[in-house]
Amino acid sequence: MRVLIVEDEIRLAEALQQILKEQKYMTDVVHTGTDGLDYGLSDIYDVIILDVMLPGIDGFTIAKSLREQKIQTPIIMLTARDSTNDKVAGLDCGADDYMTKPFVPEELLARIRALTRRQGEVQLNEAAYGDISLNLSTGDLSCGAKSIHLNYKESEILKLLMAHTGNAISKEDLIVRVWGYDSDATDNNVEAYVSFLRRKLNFLGSKVQITALRKVGYRLEMEE
Ligand code: CA
Repeated sequence: MRVLIVEDEIRLAEALQQILKEQKYMTDVVHTGTDGLDYGLSDIYDVIILDVMLPGIDGFTIAKSLREQKIQTPIIMLTARDSTNDKVAGLDCGADDYMTKPFVPEELLARIRALTRRQGEVQLNEAAYGDISLNLSTGDLSCGAKSIHLNYKESEILKLLMAHTGNAISKEDLIVRVWGYDSDATDNNVEAYVSFLRRKLNFLGSKVQITALRKVGYRLEMEE
């Protein structure tokens, strides 16, 4: 993972770099819009964190130019104030997400994770694992001849687990992806929904299990 930080406030840029380094991301930092555009055009980054107000070229123009040059790197815009106009303008220019300064590091990291994952995700109408299949448009979960309806959150959680088989997903990630960044959901909410899902898998007679890994999260497994 390689992240480009385009931010002219030196201290904020350094703080961002520090946060990302702790997560083992490789980072490059530039302080002007001109450099930001040049570096972005290299197309070697997995994510670009882009300030709006920059010397040289502003962030909106950079995002727009990158998209015009067919650079699809996910962009997170940093807007100085909580202005709806800035957010709309940023998204119109081709940014994928925005954050209002000041922000907490955890939120930025969650957004980077969400964006980089979304890129590789294949949009299919049906997800399958082991003996189950989930219809993503209706939320119907089937195993053999039996089928049961999942509500929105159950379906979203199972979909994520099915998309990451082999890897565990943390409760924190599930909260961000299913409940959203700004939600008040806690681990208890995730646990409750996982328990609903387990009951439904049990009802279907499926061999698929949702295994809890201590301090790591959840993973789908097939019972032997
Ligand atoms: Ca700035």
